[in-house]
Amino acid sequence: MRKVAIVVGHTKDSKGAYSKWLPCEFEYNIQAAEELKKINPSLYTVYTHDSYLGGYYAMEKRTADTINKDSFDLTLELHYNSASPLAHGTECCYWFASKKGKEYAQKISLEVSKHLDTTNRGTKALYNKNDRGYWFTYLMKAPAVIVEPFFGSNEFDALKFQDPKKYAHVLNEIISTL
Ligand SMILES: [Zn+2]
Repeated sequence: MRKVAIVVGHTKDSKGAYSKWLPCEFEYNIQAAEELKKINPSLYTVYTHDSYLGGYYAMEKRTADTINKDSFDLTLELHYNSASPLAHGTECCYWFASKKGKEYAQKISLEVSKHLDTTNRGTKALYNKNDRGYWFTYLMKAPAVIVEPFFGSNEFDALKFQDPKKYAHVLNEIISTL
């Protein structure tokens, strides 16, 4: 990997999921993204979405137009999941027709689950605009992966991810093997 774009999911005004044990999605992933940048400033470029103005598609389109001006080998959007207290585990999503996207999504999901001792839920292919996260995976020129490393709603998952810097170091190690 020569250049990787890291996009923080959600926005500063609409921060995504909350957790009883961790900062909310946007705050948590900002910290992870900044740590990646610190680990290797020449490999990682960090992006945040401006706002949901015009809707989810419009937001992803503006971000993609910026990112696609440059050339990246991989684009990640950082999230975390939230559901019932029992749901747990790591998963990654990719655009269904992207072979590279699928390969990277599989590796990242498997390796994050190994390093942080979570259940590997595997990958989800996103097929159409109603699939959550679809436009990110579709609009990026580089292979794109949505990373959902844990469920903030599950106490055991959340405690394993207490330190966003540790998570960033794990991600960096995985990315260096892709
Ligand atoms: Zn999210």
